[in-house]
Amino acid sequence: MRCPECGMDYPETKTICIPCGVNITNGEKLSTTVTILPADENTEEDARERRRPVKILSSLWTFVTMLIPGILWPPILIVCILLIPLAAFVVHLGMVMFFLGLPFAGIMVCGLSVAIYWQAVAWMQTGQWMLLQNALVEYNTMQWFFFMIATLIPYGGFLAYMVYVVHPQMPK
Ligand SMILES: [Zn+2]
Repeated sequence: MRCPECGMDYPETKTICIPCGVNITNGEKLSTTVTILPADENTEEDARERRRPVKILSSLWTFVTMLIPGILWPPILIVCILLIPLAAFVVHLGMVMFFLGLPFAGIMVCGLSVAIYWQAVAWMQTGQWMLLQNALVEYNTMQWFFFMIATLIPYGGFLAYMVYVVHPQMPK
């Protein structure tokens, strides 16, 4: 069989002359069509934009669970949620005793409140029923930092409130 373009002789089994790109059985020129589909960049961008807030939320959640893993354990979470108002009530009681002329007993009761609260924070921070003293030994710098912030905000705030707001209004 002969190629109609270049005249090259081919065996009967051959159907295409590759250099010419011709079907030698019928003389048809072969062609290849390449269609480049437009990349849908906007859709890609939009999808990424939509995923971003979810990504921020999930990494925030990862950070929170690393800082206070107790949030993932319902028994610890429930007990700690119940202990916080108890600690608040006890510290209030201690402050009242202190200002009503029982300073020593008042300080002791406030100390009890701090102990209750610290234990709750330690359970939340370790995610297990670990005693406060053992938790404090195992804390790393970041956990210590969180522990101090978690103590200073409620107790510092409450102490300032009692000293600057409640105490001046008390009858002398
Ligand atoms: Zn040819």
